[in-house]
Amino acid sequence: MRPLLILVLSIALTAFSGCSSCGKGASEDARTHVSVSIFPIYDLVRRVAGPDADVALLLPPGRNEHSFDPTPKEIATVTKAKLGVMVGLGLDPWMEKLLRDAAPKAAILKVGEKVPTLKIKDDPVGDEEADKARKKDDDDDHGHDHDHAAEGKGAVDPHVWLDPARARTIVRAIGEELAKVDTAHAADYRRRATEVDASLEALDKEVEGRTKALKTRGFVTFHGSFQYFAARYGLDIIAVIEPYPGSQPSGEYIAKVLSVIKKKEVPALFSEPQLDPRPAKILSDEAKIPLGVLDPVGGGPETDSYEKMIRYDVAQLEKHLR
Ligand SMILES: [Zn+2]
Repeated sequence: MRPLLILVLSIALTAFSGCSSCGKGASEDARTHVSVSIFPIYDLVRRVAGPDADVALLLPPGRNEHSFDPTPKEIATVTKAKLGVMVGLGLDPWMEKLLRDAAPKAAILKVGEKVPTLKIKDDPVGDEEADKARKKDDDDDHGHDHDHAAEGKGAVDPHVWLDPARARTIVRAIGEELAKVDTAHAADYRRRATEVDASLEALDKEVEGRTKALKTRGFVTFHGSFQYFAARYGLDIIAVIEPYPGSQPSGEYIAKVLSVIKKKEVPALFSEPQLDPRPAKILSDEAKIPLGVLDPVGGGPETDSYEKMIRYDVAQLEKHLR
């Protein structure tokens, strides 16, 4: 056994000294690893990080952002993280749990806490009767596994990133946090954050112009993710089919939404790539209006940057709200 141990040790030492002389092994270990919960925030972080940090996305594109069960591979990725970036505000609690378990020493940046927030509207249909129907449904509905305290009435809407103006604040917060975690590259992180901020400023101006030109300003979404976007550009979300993520609306509530769609002559419904399209299709058939797609998370071939995701959504509104 002894000679074998010595042999193994000497091979290991040779390999180690070989590596340290080239310097690559040491610098690989010292690299800053960052894990990010969802694609739009990941895109901003990877651009601010540039070549100075390795940034990993956890939620695979196409998946709903409100729940996620990480695989062992994703858990292994998080283990290396010096920094975890998430939205917070109840959007991605799975990320916080993952960081606590796999990388308890990592710093956590919750970008949602850096910007002003809005509450989820109690009355997304704008119709008293419908609200009453919902309220009754809520009262009757105890005993299921949905967390009303986190997502129910009066809860903060966590979809802050869909307003490009708030995204500008977020990108600067990302630059500052990276500068804190990896001080050697602080100036580079801040410089790139300023560059991304300039791109978002241009995007914000472009979207302002394009949404101003929309003839119809009201639309109906499936999941309540576009409130910040609508508020930024003076658009009106007439109804949300599923105002509280993961909470199935009652048939009575959906009937009310349908009647408002007809009464207000809503020109189109919008589904989302992360959701089952079938209920949306049934509703748009029922209301006899077209079904568009609004993507709040992106990461697909047409939405592989923050700006492309927002432009995709604006193009969808332009297509259906003329
Ligand atoms: Zn959402």
